[in-house]
Amino acid sequence: MNIKISNIANLPTEFGDFKIQSFKEDEKEHLVIFKEPFADAPLVRIHSECLTGDALGSLKCDCGEQLRYALKNISQKGGMVIYLRQEGRNIGLLNKVNAYALQDKGLDTVEANHQLGFEADMRTYEIVEYILEYFNIKKIYLLTNNPKKIEAINGVEIVKRLPIVIKANTHNEGYLKVKKDQMGHLL
Ligand SMILES: [Zn+2]
Repeated sequence: MNIKISNIANLPTEFGDFKIQSFKEDEKEHLVIFKEPFADAPLVRIHSECLTGDALGSLKCDCGEQLRYALKNISQKGGMVIYLRQEGRNIGLLNKVNAYALQDKGLDTVEANHQLGFEADMRTYEIVEYILEYFNIKKIYLLTNNPKKIEAINGVEIVKRLPIVIKANTHNEGYLKVKKDQMGHLL
């Protein structure tokens, strides 16, 4: 891995005051948004970029709500959001929009990805262990509904998985059902 690390800067937000530091892995510029002091096992959210959900308030998925839930909790308890720049489950924004267009025609998220020649989920998490090690974090409380993330993290101890509980809306009901039934999410 070729990784460049930025300096640390302050980031006041509507959820509280955080510090941010960027980790550039090849072309991908990830961001760690953190709140100190860290407990012995801090609260960690590994969040993959979803421009439409995180920034535009899209109701097609639950990403934006999960991100805000995480920031709110972490601002109170300390810990970090590791924001990974792997848009659209790592197929990129252009492919994600094409997948959405297929979903407009009735395909679900998994079928749409397959039709475009991708796996249902192309995300990777190698950088996460690097970042946790960099911060000298040996154990964490992991804020996630995704068992794949629990499997993907081996270098640090996951003391406990904490669920993110969010209500479905009429637009993302189907999406959440596919996540649960076909992708093993713990909803
Ligand atoms: Zn999303």
